[in-house]
Amino acid sequence: MTSTLTVRHLFGPGPTNPYPEATEALARPLIGHLDPQFLAIMDRACEGLRQVWGTANRRTLPISATGSAGMEAAFVNFVNPGDAVVIAVNGLFGERMCDVAARCGAEVVRVDFPFGQPVDAQKVAQAHPNPTIIAAVHAETSTGVRSDIAALGAIKGDALLLVDAVTSIGGIELLADEWGIDIGYAGTQKCLGVAPGLAPFTVSDRAWERRVENPRSWYLDLGMLGGYVGETSGSATRTYHHTAPVAMIASLDAGLQRILDEGLDAVRDRHYAAGHALQNGLEAMGLELFAAEGHRLPELTTVKVPDGVDSAAVRKELLEKYNLEIGPGVKEFANTVWRIGLMGPNASPDSVALILGALQDVLG
Ligand code: PLP
Repeated sequence: MTSTLTVRHLFGPGPTNPYPEATEALARPLIGHLDPQFLAIMDRACEGLRQVWGTANRRTLPISATGSAGMEAAFVNFVNPGDAVVIAVNGLFGERMCDVAARCGAEVVRVDFPFGQPVDAQKVAQAHPNPTIIAAVHAETSTGVRSDIAALGAIKGDALLLVDAVTSIGGIELLADEWGIDIGYAGTQKCLGVAPGLAPFTVSDRAWERRVENPRSWYLDLGMLGGYVGETSGSATRTYHHTAPVAMIASLDAGLQRILDEGLDAVRDRHYAAGHALQNGLEAMGLELFAAEGHRLPELTTVKVPDGVDSAAVRKELLEKYNLEIGPGVKEFANTVWRIGLMGPNASPDSVALILGALQDVLG
């Protein structure tokens, strides 16, 4: 029996609708994970990832699991028990970092900021005299806020700067080398416009020299993954570590080529234009935005649910009547905030018009 799924407009916090090129790649004939044709695709995907990360790091690869595995890899490979790890928390994913770092034995120094506000680098700098790692989320998907990663790079001192770029990569400016990012992880299902399933990852040479000798994760051990993608010795000497998710990597490659063909600046301008048009349109409808002005992500807008409106009922009606998905807020904002994503191919004027029109209709 074949089941047919309704096509949805994925305007929530992710996954987004993929670029058509990324979807098409999933349907190509499967090839082996050590086939020279596949190794060429992997090489090109890693090169594409360097470009969207804004890095020349040799060690840039897609980890075979979702963004949270990228987060695990970032901590498990660089935290030794007792290391002081300063984590800036201004949303759910900063909180998740604290949990992951603690499980790796870190002495977590948590620096909290109100949800909806960006991270303040000076406050982070004052949290500990000599941390091993300073960590922050570039684009907090839970609140729609962008934090200034270059400012954290400027105060990191001897610490390694660890950054979550899950919702920024492929959507807004991301300059890993220029900003001093030492360890970065991301996801495919947001602005890269690819299905969920891979965690683009990058490591600077400075971080590499300080990595944990024998990390407590076999699957996420970057030392072993290095051989798998041939990043240190070239594709000729690639070694088996795990069976590469061939179709997903081909899809990532296709998505990346789509972005690079359009041009990184053009893609970012498209995300900014769509996000600002949506935010202006929502305000013109009399709605109030949640994230602090001047720090709003264009790709993920948070908007307050008007008083007296049933947040879940509106989302349900949008889905049933317009096949349009938006997300709820998180934690204490679950019923008082909506999250609207315009990521990858959805960062477009027609998506903006569709959301505004549908919301106007449902709100009456
Ligand atoms: N970090 C951020 C900022 C995210 O938005 C997400 C997912 O939405 C994650 C981490 C976790 O990624 P995943 O759900 O792909 O495991």
